Order: sequence, then structure tokens, then C-alpha cells
Amino acid sequence: MSFDTLGLAAPLVRATVDLGWTKPTPIQLDAIPAARDGRDLLACAMTGSGKTGAFLLPLLHRLMDHPTRATRALVLTPTRELAAQVHADLVALAKHTKLSGAAIFGGVGMGPQEAAFRKHTDVIIATPGRLLDHMGQPGKYVDFSALEVLILDEADRMLDMGFLPAIKQVLRQIPTKRQTLFFSATLPPPIVELSKSMLKDPVRFNVERVSKPAAGIEQALWPVKESLKADLFLALLRADVIGNVICFTRTKHRANRLSDVLTRAGMPNAKIHGNRSQAQRTEALAGFKSGKVRVLVATDIVARGIDVEALEHVVNFDVPHLPEDYIHRVGRTARAEATGEAFTLVSPEEENDLRAIEKSIGRKLPRRTLEGFDYNHRPVERFEVPIAERIAAIRAKKAEDRARAKAKLERKAAAESQRGGKPSGSRPSGSGPVAGSRPSSSSAKGRRFGGRRGRS
Ligand code: AMP
Repeated sequence: MSFDTLGLAAPLVRATVDLGWTKPTPIQLDAIPAARDGRDLLACAMTGSGKTGAFLLPLLHRLMDHPTRATRALVLTPTRELAAQVHADLVALAKHTKLSGAAIFGGVGMGPQEAAFRKHTDVIIATPGRLLDHMGQPGKYVDFSALEVLILDEADRMLDMGFLPAIKQVLRQIPTKRQTLFFSATLPPPIVELSKSMLKDPVRFNVERVSKPAAGIEQALWPVKESLKADLFLALLRADVIGNVICFTRTKHRANRLSDVLTRAGMPNAKIHGNRSQAQRTEALAGFKSGKVRVLVATDIVARGIDVEALEHVVNFDVPHLPEDYIHRVGRTARAEATGEAFTLVSPEEENDLRAIEKSIGRKLPRRTLEGFDYNHRPVERFEVPIAERIAAIRAKKAEDRARAKAKLERKAAAESQRGGKPSGSRPSGSGPVAGSRPSSSSAKGRRFGGRRGRS
């Protein structure tokens, strides 16, 4: 069965050929004809299943049918990374059409995003928080009056992240007469309830299926003491048991610590977590994709939505608390038909969480040990500093900074009183224009005023 047989417009089929997609994935086979016929969908699909193509292809087909100048589709996603990924897929699939898309998410300037709304971009792909920011702007430039299709991507994740009120708020401000495509990796009761309130007589797919990581992934466990996890991870990298890798940690602090350990060991790495700015996250991901950095250390926030071709390894530095998180992390590798390895470092304290995962995927995972690694050595340094100690260290540093600033002020005051001069902060009276002509301040002001003129 090929894409030709799904009744899609020729420019879309050409785009799938350009992407090297030879045949539709199962979710695409199910979803495309039903969505193309205008039906609502309730699809239980994981990352790696080809779900993005499953909703974008019928959407683009519909929009090509009768072009108008209005925003006609909205895709809601939980994370910035996923919004960017869906946008990238849209650009690739709409390559031979005139349709446009824009990704709208926080952490970057509002201006270009406002322009996308004002230009009546065909498809808006947004995270709920930033979308509401735009909808609340005084200019009232968000116009969804012509919206025909709403897509929820990873709905369960959006609820986990507390976006339910935001989604409800968006729903109140868009047309009720529309097609809705609802995608979720899992279907717990709150998701079923939300889907019922949004969907009309939906076609359901894969609802009964138990979630499992994609077939091509080889999974293994590396049991190790908590205190030796960083050493073992480094040893696996050095022994080339692991190639390029995304390594997930439980917390931002642990991500920072692991990145420090790798840096000190000379291992090129980058980190990506919720405390990093959008620019830092983009740079880290670009460095990893280009092969400049070998290890991308990440917290769960990026587990969904990152699509890196030919990713060899995913390492869970910590066992995820929830089986779904395990499946999503492991889904970063071996997407579609590639192959990959997913390793999990397991400390004795994590065996309980691991048992739940093994139960959920329906089998015991093989356990491996690294030959030549001393599993009983004393670590050179503690990996994680307890929170109380970290707070104490921050307080001590702040007290030290304050003392240093005070001593500096005192030294300055003493020096000035010796010279018999005035304190350095005061200016001679009537100094305005004169001060402005001093080289240092004039260049600073010149830059500032120059910038303003440039904008006006
Ligand atoms: P998704 O589940 O939408 O995140 O897609 C997972 C990966 O599979 C992405 O890298 C897609 O580009 C790729 N993909 C999607 N559909 C196909 C297909 N029909 N054939 C091959 N690869 C695909």
C-alpha cells in the first residue's frame, strides 16, 4: 500500500516521495482516509508512529481544496520542541503547495509571531500558553473566525503539564463547527472526558493497544550503584558501547551535574532543560544534530518532540517514574523503521519503578555489565549535592558577595576621603550635555539613539 492509494492531492504525494516515505505507517493508513472524509478522529498513537504525517497530510489536502486567505487550522502541542517539529514536518509536506504554517511558542519574541497571525497564516501550530498570550493582546489580531480544523497533539501530555484550563479557554474562542483530530499516547479518564466534550462521532484508532516502544529498539539495563552512575556512563562512552546519545536525567540539577562531569572529562556535551532559554535549547539541539556534541543531556521536557535522524542511543540515566515516560524517551531512537539501542542505568533503589515498566511493556529487559569497570570503586566526587547543602552553599556565596561589595565600597570611600574629593557617583552641577560628550558615555548613548532612529 503506497501513498498514491490514499486519495491525497498529487503535490502531497510528491512531498512524501521527497521525504523517502515509501509506504504509509499503520496510523497513517487508518487516519488519512477518515480525516480526508472530514471525520473527527480519536487516535491513540505514540511518538515514532508517524502520527504527525497522519494528521498533517489530510489537513493539507483539505486546505488545498479551496484556498482562502485566512487561518483555517490550529494545532495545539504541549512543548516548544514539538511545535517546532510539527512545523518542520508541515514545511516539508507542504513544499509543493502554497500553504503556509507558523510555530507559536514562548521564550522567543512576540513580534514575528504577531506578524504570522496578521498575515493569516494557514496553519498555526502553538503551545497553549503563548497562544493565549497572543489572543489576549489589545490589538485583537488573532482571528480564528474561519477556523475549520483543530488538532490536539499529545493531549495527555498537555493535561499532565496543566494545560487543561488553557485548552478550554481556547475552545471557547474558536468556532464549534469544525473538524477535530485528537491524538494522545494514552487515554486515561480525564483525556476520555475531554475528548468526549470536543469530538463529534469520532473514528477511533488503536484505542485498545498497549503502548510499546517501536519495534526496532533494542533495550537493555545497566545495573549500578547510584553513586557510580556518572562513572559508568562515561566508561560506556569511552568504550564506544554508546555512540551519539540523548541522556535523560530525573531533575535539572542532575542534568547540570552530569554535564559538568562530562565537560571535566573532555566529553563534548550540551544540555537542554526547562531552566534554559529558548536560544540555549535551540543551540544545544543544533550542536547535537550537527554532530558537534556527542551527548545531549536532557530532562523529560524534551523527551517528546525531538526528532534526530539516525540517533543511535537513548540512555535513561535515571529510571523514569512512569512507564509512559519510559516509552516516550525510548521512542527518541529507532523512529519509523530505523534501529537503535535504549539503555537504562538502574540503581538498587529504582528496581520498583523498573518492575512497573517491565510489566507495562510485557517483558523482562536484559541486564548487562561493562567488562573492566570496577563496580565497587569509591567515586572521586559525590554526584548529587543534597538540596539543603546546595541552599547553604548559595547562602554562603551570597553572604561572601555582600561582604566583598561592602569592603569595596569602604575602600573606595576611604581613598576618596584621602584625596579630599567628592564621592565618585556625584556629578558636577550643570553637567548634563558635558557628561554626554565624554567618549565612553557618548558612544553608549549613540548606540542607543541610533537604535531608536533605526526602528522609527
Ligand atoms: P512522528 O511519530 O510523527 O513523530 O514520526 C516519527 C518519524 O517517522 C519522523 O522522523 C517522520 O519523518 C518519520 N515518518 C513518518 N511517516 C513515515 C513514513 N510513512 N515512512 C517513513 N518514515 C516516516
